[in-house]
Amino acid sequence: MISAYEKIAVIGAGTMGNGIAHVFAQAGYSVHLIDVSPESLTKALATIGGNIDRQIKKEVLTSADKDRILGAIHTHTTLAEGVEGCALVIEAATENVELKLKIFKELDTLCGRDTILATNTSSISISLIGSVTQRSSQVIGMHFMNPVPVMKLVEIIRGYNTSDTVLQAIVALTQDLGKTPEMSEDYPGFVANRILMPMINEAIWTLHEGVATREAIDSVMRLGMAHPMGPLQLADFIGLDVCLAILRVLHDGFGNPKYAPCPLLVNMVTAGHLGKKSNKGFYSYM
Ligand code: NAD
Repeated sequence: MISAYEKIAVIGAGTMGNGIAHVFAQAGYSVHLIDVSPESLTKALATIGGNIDRQIKKEVLTSADKDRILGAIHTHTTLAEGVEGCALVIEAATENVELKLKIFKELDTLCGRDTILATNTSSISISLIGSVTQRSSQVIGMHFMNPVPVMKLVEIIRGYNTSDTVLQAIVALTQDLGKTPEMSEDYPGFVANRILMPMINEAIWTLHEGVATREAIDSVMRLGMAHPMGPLQLADFIGLDVCLAILRVLHDGFGNPKYAPCPLLVNMVTAGHLGKKSNKGFYSYM
């Protein structure tokens, strides 16, 4: 069982990494946040600070909590420095298979024998990631939802070799963070993105074919289906590069043309329109 006050590491300080670091620090863990980009680390701390400020305004947290939470997050630009002595490492780097395999190979040599290696991947096979390590029984999917401090669900994905002990430890830890775990078997996109991404892709096709405006598409799903956010706005929020990467994993993994990404999505990502994180996607965030 991994308990509060233990050291944990989060790899990647982007959209998800900063949120994961925030919830663990708030729950009392010592968090080591690692990113190859010093700018991402600076931006992550600013984002966490801004999110805590909003909670202070709502009187959910105090400024003493802010000091405690930010004080529990230590930043690093190398894996070796950041993962030392950690009971758990959660990888939340860019959604790219080669990158994740490289990171897990390195983690396997750097981490203590008992360290659990989790990945926040949205779609990539946990069994594949585990296969590049000598500890596939200790590799597991821990898929947080965006924004992490707000969303209750964590999808837990058991790789082919993941042990019962590790599964139970991660379920207990998720509950300890105040989140709700739901289990998925290890198939492309798991549950969440297998259902969500085809809907987002279809919304992009609907826009691409000129069936309706972006505002109309989002409004139909918000007002007509009671979704809190329209699919195009949600895609911007997730990151269009992340959506494209997930659709490619679904398309390759199932070999079914229904998952082929809409060419408009491919064009937008190629042109650097990545959604909220690049200030432009289906909407502008300047
Ligand atoms: P992002 O692009 O916002 O951030 C990725 C970060 O990883 C960047 O800061 C980058 O500098 C860093 N990085 C790249 N290579 C690295 C390395 N070798 N070592 C350390 N850091 C490295 O991506 P994101 O949206 O935060 O996604 C991260 C992971 O979480 C992906 O696997 C994604 O599929 C998953 N995820 C994303 C969402 C979402 O809504 N965006 C939701 C759930 C899960």
